[in-house]
Amino acid sequence: MALINENYLKLKAGYLFPEISRRVAAFSTANPGRKILRLGIGDVTRPLCPKIVEAFQKGVEEMAASETFRGYGPEQGYGFLREAAATHDFQAFGADIRPEEIFISDGSKCDTGNIQEIFGSGNTIAIGDPVYPVYVDTNVMAGKTGPVQENGYYENILYMPCLEEQGFLPRVPKKKADIIYLCFPNNPTGATASRAELVQWVDYAKANRSVILFDAAYEAFIRDPAIPHSIFEIKGAKDVAIEFRSFSKTAGFTGTRCAYTVVPESLHAYTQSGEKVRVHDLWLRRQTTKFNGVSYPVQKAAEACYTEEGRTQIKNEISYYMENARIIKEKMSGYGYRVFGAENAPYVWFKTKNNMSSWNFFDLLLDKAGVVGTPGQGFGPSGEGYFRFSAFSSRNVVTEAMDALEKV
Ligand code: PLP
Repeated sequence: MALINENYLKLKAGYLFPEISRRVAAFSTANPGRKILRLGIGDVTRPLCPKIVEAFQKGVEEMAASETFRGYGPEQGYGFLREAAATHDFQAFGADIRPEEIFISDGSKCDTGNIQEIFGSGNTIAIGDPVYPVYVDTNVMAGKTGPVQENGYYENILYMPCLEEQGFLPRVPKKKADIIYLCFPNNPTGATASRAELVQWVDYAKANRSVILFDAAYEAFIRDPAIPHSIFEIKGAKDVAIEFRSFSKTAGFTGTRCAYTVVPESLHAYTQSGEKVRVHDLWLRRQTTKFNGVSYPVQKAAEACYTEEGRTQIKNEISYYMENARIIKEKMSGYGYRVFGAENAPYVWFKTKNNMSSWNFFDLLLDKAGVVGTPGQGFGPSGEGYFRFSAFSSRNVVTEAMDALEKV
């Protein structure tokens, strides 16, 4: 008799986005011909930039000639990409990250989901609420939590409510947490952490010998020069943090797939008996056993993001999306909603009116305006009563959706 991993049965209903797709599909079937305006899932809509496409194509051509063909690549990723990332994403900001500390991957979803494997099962895991649901769900799947409770929280997770009155920022826990997930700029609230706030987290992690898992998938959307792009801009963070970066939103790679994770060589965690172990070695072992790298043309395409032309082109795309965010924020504020985010992140987060539940609000918008957003509750119990619009749609969809909402 084959036994299943019963931890999967502990998961609350489907993953958020499949549930949204299910409801939208049911609506379309019931209302054939009704136009749907999608501001829901955070998927980009603009094509890859010309400089990236050129490098991508050149990479494919190299694969087509016997002199330049490549099979399996280096397990951590090609040196050209790791060097470019270390130079432009870290050293340029004063963060001393070396190419050897970078692991190229096919996505931050996999990396943020897989990283828990290399940590033990007795850890106290602190996770913000609301936040990208992958951190909680992957810990549930791995059996690192208890069952879900009536309040929507899983047992054995130390939730850090990110409430409106706190600017949607998690507070440094009073209790000791061993593994801490932070996501800045935040999905879904768009909140960012200042340098002083990140210093507090690094100090906390040092004092408690904890590891911070810092998801910076949206760092490219930061506009305010005072906000750090990387946790490694904070002194001492290399001893306590791992950082996740993705080309998905930065450069339109959601379908192309490329990301990377920085695991500093000076980061340590401990055995039960207190022996210090280099986390870098464990992640290397994990990746070389379970992952065979990202294709050469994709890594060439990602490298092009760091050329002067590539950077200019990417910046223009980001400005396009951020203008969408500005329009959504302005319109929704005009309709009387309390609106957040949209300044250093491609997400607009707002409070529903009359405390309507976020799934009821989802159904209302779909029914009355054909507009799809994301219910805040799907990101955690503290997201209840809030709603997220993504700025990744085309300008036409954004303006049409905003007009359609006028009548709701
Ligand atoms: N991290 C956050 C916070 C995200 O919002 C997303 C995607 O929406 C990801 C990671 C996944 O990125 P990738 O496309 O690199 O898997």
